[in-house]
Amino acid sequence: MTLEELIVPHRLLLGPGPSNVDPRVYKAMMSPVIGYLDPQFLRLLEETQEPLRAVFRTTNELTIPISGTGSLGMEAAIYNTVEEGDTVIVAINGFFGLRMADMARRCGATVVTVEAPWGQIVEPEQLEDALRRHPETKAVCIVHAETSTGVLQPLLPVVELAHQYGALLIVDAVTSLAGCPLEVDAWGLDVVYSATQKCLSAPPGLAPLTLGPRAMELVLKRREPCRSWYVDVTLIRQYYGQPRRYHHTPPMTMLYALREALRLILEEGLEERWRRHRRHARALWAGLEAMGLRLHVEREEHRAPPITTVCVPEGIDEAQVRNGLLERHNIEIGAGFGPLQGRVWRIGLMGYSSQPQNVLALLHGLEEELRRQGFPCPPGAGISAASRSLASGGDDA
Ligand SMILES: *Cc1c(COP(=O)(O)O)cnc(C)c1O
Repeated sequence: MTLEELIVPHRLLLGPGPSNVDPRVYKAMMSPVIGYLDPQFLRLLEETQEPLRAVFRTTNELTIPISGTGSLGMEAAIYNTVEEGDTVIVAINGFFGLRMADMARRCGATVVTVEAPWGQIVEPEQLEDALRRHPETKAVCIVHAETSTGVLQPLLPVVELAHQYGALLIVDAVTSLAGCPLEVDAWGLDVVYSATQKCLSAPPGLAPLTLGPRAMELVLKRREPCRSWYVDVTLIRQYYGQPRRYHHTPPMTMLYALREALRLILEEGLEERWRRHRRHARALWAGLEAMGLRLHVEREEHRAPPITTVCVPEGIDEAQVRNGLLERHNIEIGAGFGPLQGRVWRIGLMGYSSQPQNVLALLHGLEEELRRQGFPCPPGAGISAASRSLASGGDDA
């Protein structure tokens, strides 16, 4: 038996993740694998924690990459803090809120859901109402940037409410970290996790996690051990402490990738990176609207710059457009799912993928694919509007 050489096409990744990987990150991944107790590797691990704290905007001691994808970051956040019999409020306005609720239930919690339509934020009044009805609530779970809907949830009013009722706030920042303003310490967020393949622009495989002092105190006071051995932070932190104790073999190659991705963020500047995501998203929005398309999230301040949902016009076969973009233009975008299935496309401008020429390439390809199906796009209108927006330098910068 023989196997042919692996050949994978270079795609322009403008979907809900993964995003394109910066060539410098690939280069770092060519570095040799060494032992997990090799002083050189331990130095690299420590070096990586400081920039990770900088990107989370925190001084939290426990700020580490969990070995797994974003969903394992979610499990680490929830399984460490939630115990059998706890009451947990979960804000649900999209797919990832549902996943958080599922995990909290698997920990034996009584889950109270607070729901909003897919495309709108969860209003603080709704959460306040739930907290008033359940003052025993241990934690509130919420998604910052809902990748399934394109909504950016304002966190400040939510964290104030949670703390007022003595609850922790657990935040999914998988799509927002390094793509939109996020301030773990200044906003007082207790538990926050992310993933490497969205705005950090490294391959999927690590889930950055940070736990604040209130969360850590609860973790250390647990009645019974965390139900997951693998993500139990009281065990994992022994590897980071002195003396170092083996927990599991960290995926070295992914740590090299994360280190280089963080180095790129430090070079660019975190705030400039937030502004870049916003600038290119605004150009995309202007272009899509000039083509005669409607954005699914109506209020601009509730749109997450890394992920845009745009409505599929009446009579257009949405899958045919996506397939055409992939086959003829080499561009990946995402479909809607759940209640948004067949109703929206999801366009990501995350990390290395958030570049002006990518916005223009997407608008060009989309226009061509829509015209194939007879949609009356004014020729070049999308690109012109996006170029004007880009030339204005993002007027909110
Ligand atoms: C992608 C994503 C996840 C899950 O991450 P995986 O790496 O796919 O496990 C969780 N939450 C949000 C908001 C996401 O966008």
